[in-house]
Amino acid sequence: MKKITIAIDGHSSCGKSTMAKDLAREIGYIYIDSGAMYRCCTLFAIEQGLIAADGTIDEAELERRMPEISVSFQLNPETGRPDAYLNGENVEQRIRTMEVSSHVSPVAALPFVREAMTAQQQAMGREGGIVMDGRDIGTAVFPDAELKVFVTAAPEIRAQRRYDELRAKGEECDFDEILANLQERDRIDSTRAVAPLRQAEDAIVLDNSHLTIEEQKKWLLERFHELTD
Ligand code: C5P
Repeated sequence: MKKITIAIDGHSSCGKSTMAKDLAREIGYIYIDSGAMYRCCTLFAIEQGLIAADGTIDEAELERRMPEISVSFQLNPETGRPDAYLNGENVEQRIRTMEVSSHVSPVAALPFVREAMTAQQQAMGREGGIVMDGRDIGTAVFPDAELKVFVTAAPEIRAQRRYDELRAKGEECDFDEILANLQERDRIDSTRAVAPLRQAEDAIVLDNSHLTIEEQKKWLLERFHELTD
């Protein structure tokens, strides 16, 4: 049977990655976290001193050095999920910090960053059989994807989930800072000039504010089987 392309887009911290990863594992598809790719570009910019203390990005230098950024994914046998690698180094933990979260949306709004990441994402999905989550997958990366889902949830619920996740990893964090960060990311992501976050016309909307992970998983699997059975 032909393998389809599945695009999961939506607001920040609403559990897109969890549902996309679980679905991919269940149906034997490749899973790609496109947000991790923008986070890797941001980590590179921070570590190379290309982001000033006030948040200003040295755009000319980042653009010149884009060819030095190579992002890949490798399955982590312990978690059963793919970890992100930046230039051959496992950066899965380092791209999830608040520091990266606070700079990622301005970096991801730069047209040359989007162009480079979009080209890599399209190459990864050329054969189909892929579940990719992000902000512009159903609108810009794979506009012809057979299954498109747009996920959202109330901001306070999203912030609480993120807070719990960071605390579980032992990271010091502040609920109000997390809430402000995700709202600011949504604002920047929705208003940027290139490939802004928006619901594709043919996407199915899922508000998961009051759903458990198991319920979401079941819902998504049903949408998949509706199309492919
Ligand atoms: O999905 P995640 O929250 O890790 O993504 C981090 C950031 O990367 C988003 O806030 C957004 O600015 C950017 N992003 C994007 N396009 C995507 C995926 C993520 O601009 N397809």
